[in-house]
Amino acid sequence: MTKLRIALVGAAGRMGQAIIGIAESESVDIIARIDLGDKIALADADVLIDFSSASAAEAVCDAAMKSSTALVIGTTGHSAKEKQAIETAAQKIPVVFASNFSVGVNALFALTEQAAKILGDDFDLEIVEIHHRLKKDAPSGTAKTLAEILQRVRNTEKLRHGREGMIGEREKSEIGIHSVRGGDVVGDHTVIFAGLGERVELTHRASSRETFARGALRAAQWVIGKSPGLYDMRDVLGLSS
Ligand code: NAD
Repeated sequence: MTKLRIALVGAAGRMGQAIIGIAESESVDIIARIDLGDKIALADADVLIDFSSASAAEAVCDAAMKSSTALVIGTTGHSAKEKQAIETAAQKIPVVFASNFSVGVNALFALTEQAAKILGDDFDLEIVEIHHRLKKDAPSGTAKTLAEILQRVRNTEKLRHGREGMIGEREKSEIGIHSVRGGDVVGDHTVIFAGLGERVELTHRASSRETFARGALRAAQWVIGKSPGLYDMRDVLGLSS
């Protein structure tokens, strides 16, 4: 069997190293290891995987488009302009863009939607995420995806990022979102549904980056040969309706 050939942007980082660490056992060749200051040269890679920083998005998309290479983006924290660059690329090449590549978190996404529909408007919605002290963006991309799911179900735009001071009573329509940072926490996400006399909490805890790395390589295998378009992990896992 021919090995999948990967060009990896962010190769020296935590996620880059996690992908390099499992490449051999997943029958993948990392043929280009690219990091800060390097030219994004794709050689004859089948897929370009990006786990670097949001500011790399335009260069990553340009390089992938120029060589018609499929793209897997795990980086989070993009601005509207950087997201636009990804959407433009997806008109020319297949792109998997996912805030979280773990199967467990994608189950959390599905369960969150289901719970929000079952519990209805009487339950207050809050999201809490915890990550290691070195994480640069907040809230996490995963927390933002959870918020988008809840916003869709509740039909509200309103997000409350943390609380401080005499802010008055909680508004019924708001969705609270809170980022905790410390130590070496790989990534915890909890969605709280708080009602009167009862509370439901859905929690996912990642204990190893390997789970994201394996999901990203699964996405890389899946994306080859797909039509141009913007896909996410639900597509890769066959969960999208
Ligand atoms: P990190 O800081 O350990 O590594 C990032 C690496 O990218 C560093 O080596 C840095 O030098 C390099 N880099 C930064 N800007 C670059 C550029 N312009 N060009 C090339 N290389 C560049 O971070 P990390 O923990 O590995 O996370 C990387 C990204 O992946 C973050 O945005 C994080 O939120 C995200 N992430 C996503 C998932 C997921 O499942 N989607 C999981 C974990 C982390």
